Amino acid sequence: MANFKLALIPGDGIGPEIVGEAVKVLDRVGEIYGHTFEYHDLLMGGCAYDAKGTCFPDDILPTCRACDSVILGAVGGPKYDSLPGAERPEKALLKIREGLGLYANLRPATVHSALKSASPIRADLIGDGMDILIVRELTGGIYFGDRGTREGKYGEETYDTEAYSEFEVKRIARVAYEAAMARDKRLCSVDKANVLDSSRMWRRVVTEMSAEFPEVALTHMYVDNAAMQLVRDPSQFDVIVTSNMFGDILSDEASQITGSIGLLPSASLGEGSFGMYEPIHGSAPDIAGKDIANPIATILSMAMLLKYSLGLGKEAQAIEDAVEAVLNEGIRTADIAGAGETAIGTKAMGAEVLKRLR
Ligand code: NAD
Repeated sequence: MANFKLALIPGDGIGPEIVGEAVKVLDRVGEIYGHTFEYHDLLMGGCAYDAKGTCFPDDILPTCRACDSVILGAVGGPKYDSLPGAERPEKALLKIREGLGLYANLRPATVHSALKSASPIRADLIGDGMDILIVRELTGGIYFGDRGTREGKYGEETYDTEAYSEFEVKRIARVAYEAAMARDKRLCSVDKANVLDSSRMWRRVVTEMSAEFPEVALTHMYVDNAAMQLVRDPSQFDVIVTSNMFGDILSDEASQITGSIGLLPSASLGEGSFGMYEPIHGSAPDIAGKDIANPIATILSMAMLLKYSLGLGKEAQAIEDAVEAVLNEGIRTADIAGAGETAIGTKAMGAEVLKRLR
């Protein structure tokens, strides 16, 4: 029996709706297995801007640090698109990742057997299924590098810089190697080493580390080829490790292969067990407030929280089994419903998962 403190950041758009269902699932797991979860609500993103005049209020980092982990919905929306770059909700995401030292983003992309038909990729290309884990570096590279505006050959020009230290590459590679050890022991490092110096260093460091993990079969792939291979033969991959920007793009591509962005969870980890857990999708302003968003990505993020940060593997499995049962029984939200299938809403989907928790 344990008590866990969790920072809760529902955010904008569909954030509060999907986080609401995820919290119900977590509380039910607590009742079944004898744990309690204590939530500390925080405003971040557009809702914080409306209430406090900033998307990233001062209480966020200290409150998160005082908790065991963070649950995040999503932030942003068209209302805030005209704010200057540094004040936008998306900047708050970068600040919280950096402020909490969350440098490793784990994004599993799995095609559930019952949902093969929802994938835009032909069933024969998916084969027995697709089960990829993308490990994306999250606090370095071009999203955090030196940037500015200067006088160039053709007048004013704007630049962003891709920079990585060996230290940053080593620590993300270690997360990826360890993840590969716990899975099928295949690691593909994705870079652009035919063009970029930073990628050549990345490739060298990842290769050197393979001596520490002799059981892991390491391969390298250029990012343009990886983008192609993901749709040509997705089941060839087990774990992919890559930089911040390449990971951002490839993980969205992988998510589409699974059939819905509404199904995929993510974990952002740093040193120790602390982590931040969120669906990979955004705030979906087009469907916010309609009770039609799919809460499964956020619910599965709770399974990752239990497994990676709270050391509760059995409880994590219970959530994954409940979701699997719901999908196998043909229960669908609108985003994953096929032609002729009835779709249920966000709350109803949450309730179906709750019913199947054991
Ligand atoms: P999005 O992921 O919010 O939506 C893309 C499409 O997927 C939309 O049609 C949406 O309705 C659908 N969708 C997303 N989640 C769904 C769910 N759970 N169930 C059913 N359908 C779902 O991406 P976007 O439209 O590019 O961005 C909207 C806002 O979210 C922007 O302000 C963007 O900056 C922000 N965003 C935030 C995060 C984050 O908080 N981590 C991530 C990505 C985008």
